[in-house]
Amino acid sequence: MDIATAAAPRAAAGVDRAAARAFADEHIVPFADAWDRAGAVPEELLEQIARAGLWAPFLPVELGGSGVDMVTLAAVHEEVGRGCSSVRSLLTVHTMASWALQRWGSPAQLDRWARDMAAGRVLGAFCLSEPGAGSDAAGITTTAVREGDGWRLNGVKTWTTGGQRADLFLVFARTESSTVALLVPRASAGVTVRPLDDMLGTRASLIAQIAFEDVLLGPDALLGPSSFASGMVLSGTLDLGRLSVAAGSVGIIQACLEAGADYSTERTVGGSRLKDLPLIRAKLSDMVTDVRAARLLVAEAARLKDAGDPATIMATWVAKYFASTAAARHATEALQIHGALGFSSGHPTGRFYRDAKVAEVIEGSTEIQRLTIADEAFRRWTA
Ligand SMILES: Cc1cc2nc3c(=O)[nH]c(=O)nc-3n(C[C@H](O)[C@H](O)[C@H](O)COP(=O)(O)OP(=O)(O)OC[C@H]3O[C@@H](n4cnc5c(N)ncnc54)[C@H](O)[C@@H]3O)c2cc1C
Repeated sequence: MDIATAAAPRAAAGVDRAAARAFADEHIVPFADAWDRAGAVPEELLEQIARAGLWAPFLPVELGGSGVDMVTLAAVHEEVGRGCSSVRSLLTVHTMASWALQRWGSPAQLDRWARDMAAGRVLGAFCLSEPGAGSDAAGITTTAVREGDGWRLNGVKTWTTGGQRADLFLVFARTESSTVALLVPRASAGVTVRPLDDMLGTRASLIAQIAFEDVLLGPDALLGPSSFASGMVLSGTLDLGRLSVAAGSVGIIQACLEAGADYSTERTVGGSRLKDLPLIRAKLSDMVTDVRAARLLVAEAARLKDAGDPATIMATWVAKYFASTAAARHATEALQIHGALGFSSGHPTGRFYRDAKVAEVIEGSTEIQRLTIADEAFRRWTA
């Protein structure tokens, strides 16, 4: 047993890799292509995820979660990502919002939201990107202006995963002197949700553009500090989202490997099975190698999070960079192995190909990751 797939010591009964795999095989894998074509997941799936306790299992038992550690959470997100990246994306953003709540929420905020988020009665979404600001988070123009002891929020957020369905938005906005994180209920007056349908990848992840027009919020909307440390909410939440996307990318590689091995066993070309052709075997051997390497990198980043070690931040960048680029590479090769069949509507390898590319854009694009990882090299080697 390798350390990445070993059972985590603090995993609660009922939520672990094996349970997540069984859940994905029963409730996700058979339907993922239909959801991809429909551009949405059904409400029934969201309820099944809730019944399986997968929305926010890292929350402590007293807040309605199962208290699983980050190693287990990453394994769960890998298994869900192996089935469907759209569903993993919904888990990612809900995880980011509920983790931020757990980390920075006041007792009153925890009391109001945490149990409902653990149970999936309230779904969270993460609103940072705007039409004019993606990689450059400092460029956001959404404003939060003091209004009495609360806030007046104005601006437009876009590409919000889960935005079509989420009940609670974690919104980042500028104040006169800093950036704040605000918990904004969807039901607030002045919130308008516009579905962004027909995306190339993660098509079923209910993406939306959200407009906030003179949304009045009470003092209880502010999550975490509003002054010197406000950026910590953003960076901490993105770091966890990055781990989830890295884990989901491992799931894509695993799915490509399984599809490639199955098809190359069945398909005969010129009297030979594909699996016996050296160039096909080379593709599969690279998948076997990279999925193991990526899984270990994700497990290591998660283990460092569980240990509270700040080295987790760089480890997570590295894991996400490796796993997402490998997923894009292997999804291309899985499609190649399937020939024209992979291009057919509803064939999973076409979906893996489109979904893998998304992971190279979100939670820090490949370019931003390379810049960041290189910075670290210079810091360490010139010290
Ligand atoms: C399917 C999907 C779901 C998403 N879900 C969410 C969500 O839930 N919440 C949310 O807030 N956002 C979400 N996003 C938005 C996502 O976070 C942004 O797309 C991402 O941050 C990149 O921003 P951008 O698209 O504006 O690209 P830009 O920032 O405009 O960048 C364009 C290109 O330039 C590159 N680039 C940027 N800076 C540099 C540099 N310094 N050097 C070299 N190259 C550079 C980028 O890597 C990219 O390739 C989602 C996006 C997608 C596609």
